[in-house]
Amino acid sequence: MISGFVKAINKRHERAISGGYNNYAEMVWKDCIHRDVNSVFSFLNSALQASHEETVSDNREFELIDVLDTLFETIHKTFGIIIKENENDYSVLNGDGESLGTFSLCLYNNYDDGNWFNMDGPNNGIVNTNFVEDDTLSSTQVILLWHEVGHAIHHLLADLSTVPPDLWELGSILFEELCSEVFDIPISTNCIKKDLAIALVDLELSLSNGIDEKQFINIVEHVQNSIGVNLDIDDIGKCIYGQYGGVCFTYPYCRDLVEQDRQKAIGMMQPTNK
Ligand SMILES: [Zn+2]
Repeated sequence: MISGFVKAINKRHERAISGGYNNYAEMVWKDCIHRDVNSVFSFLNSALQASHEETVSDNREFELIDVLDTLFETIHKTFGIIIKENENDYSVLNGDGESLGTFSLCLYNNYDDGNWFNMDGPNNGIVNTNFVEDDTLSSTQVILLWHEVGHAIHHLLADLSTVPPDLWELGSILFEELCSEVFDIPISTNCIKKDLAIALVDLELSLSNGIDEKQFINIVEHVQNSIGVNLDIDDIGKCIYGQYGGVCFTYPYCRDLVEQDRQKAIGMMQPTNK
């Protein structure tokens, strides 16, 4: 597994060099708001300082129907848009009743056992979650569901191909924070620390000038020890495969934006060219 990671990291570094960049981070940051390594590191370090308060676990169970009703009501209050339930999906309508698109909810891992959002055509999204088919959700699952629907709304409001990669998690993190507020579910400190650890590992890997297995293990272990969390293979894969390599700092950055100025974050999700 590690040898595959190392190979992929070295390959993308070579690709960056042959494209005229100094490293992979420089290549993926060309569309970002952030292009300065020091400012990203200092932002992540200050977020780390603020992340030490422990949260208590929340063992409540929530009815799916209540969670969805509250979610759609919150979307209406926040953005003035309406979610209409159809037989197989949900339509998203703007204040004038015009369709912005649809999304479907595949809550019981119809596609695979992951939790994700993806577009399936220009105006249709799919939310996939790996819930077990019964009527109640844990607090973690409630946050997760709002997170993925937040992606769907962000996509349908704005054309995400025009959104800088550092803002890719803006909709999802905003919805986590809204969810935390309406249901009084604390956002777990462990999750926040994990996002920071992923961002730091991602940054080190994206800035490296080629790497071997020993260096790779050192980077991961150093970050884990300094933050006090364990990363699993999927977390590390996020730094290397898929679109997020080099821009995993979008998670802590968007959380900071939402916490600093909620209204501004909402404004940043509004339609750009629709
Ligand atoms: Zn997300």
